[in-house]
This record gives sequence, structure tokens and C-alpha cells, in this order.
Amino acid sequence: MSGTLATVSYIGATILFILSLGGLSNPETSRRGNLYGMIGMTIAVLATVMGPQVTKAGYGWIVGAMAVGAVIGIYAARTVKMTQMPELVALMHSLVGLAAMLVGFANYIDPAAAGVFQGAEKTIHEVEIYIGILIGAVTFSGSIIAFGKLSGKITGKPVLLPGRHFMNLAGLLVVIYFCGVFINTHAVHDGMTPLIVMTVIALLFGIHMVMAIGGADMPVVVSMLNSYSGWAAAATGFMLSNDLLIVTGALVGSSGAILSYIMCKAMNRHFISVIAGGFGTAEGSAPAAAGAQPAGEVSPILASETAELLRDSKNVIIVPGYGMAVAQAQHTVFEITKLLRAKGVNVRFGIHPVAGRMPGHMNVLLAEAKVPYDIVFEMDELNEDFPDTDVAMVIGANDIVNPAAQDDPASPIAGMPVLEVWKAKTSIVMKRSMASGYAGVDNPLFYKENNRMLFGDAKKMLDEVLVVLKT
Ligand code: NDP
Repeated sequence: MSGTLATVSYIGATILFILSLGGLSNPETSRRGNLYGMIGMTIAVLATVMGPQVTKAGYGWIVGAMAVGAVIGIYAARTVKMTQMPELVALMHSLVGLAAMLVGFANYIDPAAAGVFQGAEKTIHEVEIYIGILIGAVTFSGSIIAFGKLSGKITGKPVLLPGRHFMNLAGLLVVIYFCGVFINTHAVHDGMTPLIVMTVIALLFGIHMVMAIGGADMPVVVSMLNSYSGWAAAATGFMLSNDLLIVTGALVGSSGAILSYIMCKAMNRHFISVIAGGFGTAEGSAPAAAGAQPAGEVSPILASETAELLRDSKNVIIVPGYGMAVAQAQHTVFEITKLLRAKGVNVRFGIHPVAGRMPGHMNVLLAEAKVPYDIVFEMDELNEDFPDTDVAMVIGANDIVNPAAQDDPASPIAGMPVLEVWKAKTSIVMKRSMASGYAGVDNPLFYKENNRMLFGDAKKMLDEVLVVLKT
């Protein structure tokens, strides 16, 4: 393929990626958005593989690597459960970071590149390599820790080292100093030492940053690492002089940054503080699970009683959470919704921005069950309606309906906006036990006078509710 054709293909792929992002911004056009993205990526891969930079001798390696990657990808896509998606995404971000690191080192020691750049161009190229490896290393180690936290292999509680902000600052200064040393070296052999020192510091910073994040603030970190992975890809693009990688990386990087900003706003957190690490616990206070001991009496309710309450209601708000995803209860939820709506009950869904384990998790599940979009509302759109609501039905949600976020300034989730389900005439919480949610804090909602607990697996319980509603 000629260079011109490759460039034209790259421009086509870029346009498709932009259309894809546009499509993904709305549930109704998201399918089309995905399709554009897939076509764009196919064109991008073909144009790169068949482009002028790849020699015939490299085809064997590329086809082999693609076959291995495809087998792993298909296996992962088929076996991963919906609830494991965030972990998988974190793992994928780590691969982007690893790739940026490896490309950086390979680029630096590549004998073919020696002497290609001179003077200012050489300095720019070395800065590209240095920054590329830096972002790649932070993304790599940070994403591995995020994967560990999301899959429960590493504690979800914040791990706060004494003087952590000072350590971060010192690390940053050392990294800047070694950048100067690196670009002033003349032989590849001499440049390796500052490069390796910086890589080690960047890897440690990634670990330190994510370890310091508390449970409820993980979503912000996940979207931030998403953004980092985009910048890592863009940096790789600079190192390889690949325009498409630069544009695609910048698209992922900036959309990830916008998402992080939206998540920070939704969680009432400061963007810079999250980047500096150490959220999820108040400075100096005991870490998360301190309040995790259940306190007080709860009033259980039966599925049949729940059905009666729902049937006698005028206004119902359903608040789904991570437990609905675990139980795969979304289809039954919609069956119940249809029945109630047919009886004239006004049923709406209230979606918290960090419900579940990934941005948009609940929207995806409800869309899969074909719940109409016009009855699905964001938290801010219906939080004021709870006092006029007869039943607020909480399905496998916990942290996102915790009043402690408003009432207890010492709570690790203090300040996080929540769905005010306790203001409804009756709230019903559907979960299997008194266990805490992702943030590891007890929930005073369970002990409120107007709250009822429907204990059991959400799907099983909702099936029972459905049977009664049908009679
Ligand atoms: P939570 O983790 O707070 O609570 C989920 C509840 O679901 C648990 O208390 C659990 O209780 C219950 N549950 C689990 N399985 C079932 C089941 N089969 N049937 C019924 N109930 C079940 O989830 P929320 O959605 O309320 O809040 C999300 C949390 O995750 C927030 O802290 C958020 O910050 C965090 N997070 C969000 C991410 C995102 O991007 N959205 C990413 C990473 C973290 P029990 O065991 O008793 O059944």
C-alpha cells in the first residue's frame, strides 16, 4: 500500500472514530457508534499492517501476534461476566501502558534510529520517548493495582503512607531532573540509567496513587486511567511518527479526561486531589470500614408484601445497583415495570452516576432488557421527587443510597451525592444480607423506620414479586 493510500485510510479511520464517539454519547445511537468504531479500527489495522513502514519480513510476526491476540480476545470476551467488565477494562489499560513503555525503550535503543535526529529534533524525540515511557509506566502499574482492587485481590481500603504528598512531589522533581540528564547524554548506553530510574519512579507512583484511593472513589480513578491510556497511546504515536495513533490517543485521552471530570463533579470530589491520590478517607481519620459494623434493628418484608405495596402505589422509583448486575435481574425488573405501568403506576428508574462497577453500567443493563429510555432518569433529575413517591425500590444498591454521605462528615463517602430514597413513603432494599457495599461502610438507611429489607438474591426475589403481581 502506498504512503498516500495509508494516509487517506488513516483520515477515514479518524473520521469514523469521531463519529463513533458522537454515537456513543446517546443510548439510541450507541449501537451505530460501536459499529463505526469497529470499522474504523479494522481500516486502521489494515492500513498500518499493509502500510509502507512494514516490510515483508515482518508479516509472519504480525500475523502470528494477531492470531494470539485474537484467541485471547475472543476467549476473554466470551467468558468474562458483565460484573467483571471493569476489571477487564483496567487490565486492558495496563496493556496500553506496557506497550507505550516497551515502544519507548525499543525506540531509544533501535540502532536504525541512531543519528536520524540531530540538534533540536533529537531533543524533541528524546523528550517524546521520556514522556511516553513515563505516562506508560504510570498507566501500567496504576491499572494493575486498579485491576487488583476491582477484582477484590487487593484491599479496597485506601492505603495511605505517611508524607505521601511529599513523596509524590519528590518523585516528580527527581523525574524532571533526570529528564535533563537524559537529553544531555550522547550515547544510548549513558541514557539508559536516567531512563530506568524514571521508569522505576513512575511505576512506584502508579502503584502509590491507586493504592491511596478509597473504595467509593475508584470510578474516578478508573476513568482517569482510561484517559492516561489514551495519552500513553498518543505518546506512542509521537515516538513511532504515526499520526493515527496520535489522533486516536488524543481522542481517548481527552474523552477520558472529560469523563473523569464529570465523575468528579458527580461524586463531589476535586479533580486535582484525585490525581494526587489519597481519596476515600478524610485526612487523618480512620480508614473506610470503621463504620462497617451493623447498628440497629431492621424490618424485613416478604416478596408478596412487596408486590402488594407496589400494586397499591401511584409513584414508584426503582434504584438499581451493582447487585442487580450480579443477579442479572434486569429482565425481571422490566417485566414488573411493564405490569405496574399497565395498572397505571408511574414507574421510573433513578440512576446514580457511579452505580455498579463502571460508568453507564446500569444504563447498559436496562438497555439490554429493553427498558424505554424515557423512564430512565439521572440522579439529579428525580432526587427531588422522592417525597412524592410511594415506594422507592432499591435493587442490589448500597453506597449510592447511603444517607451517611449527607449526615456523617466523618464517613469515607461524606459529600458524595446520593439518591434520597429514604424520603419516599416506603423504601425497600433488596439484597442478600447486611453486608456493606463497595466502599465498606454501614448504611443507616437499613435501620430507618420507613425502610423494609427484602433479603435474598435480587433475581429470585423479583421473580416471586412478579408471580404475585400476575395473580
Ligand atoms: P454497592 O457495591 O454499594 O452495593 C451493592 C450491593 O448489592 C451489596 O451491598 C450486596 O449486598 C448487593 N448484592 C450483591 N449481589 C447481590 C444479589 N445477587 N442479589 C441482591 N443483592 C446483591 O453498589 P452500588 O451500585 O450501590 O454502588 C457502587 C459502588 O461501587 C460505589 O461505592 C462506587 O463508588 C463503586 N464503584 C463504581 C464504579 C463505577 O464506575 N460505577 C467503579 C468502581 C467502584 P449483599 O451482599 O448483602 O447481597
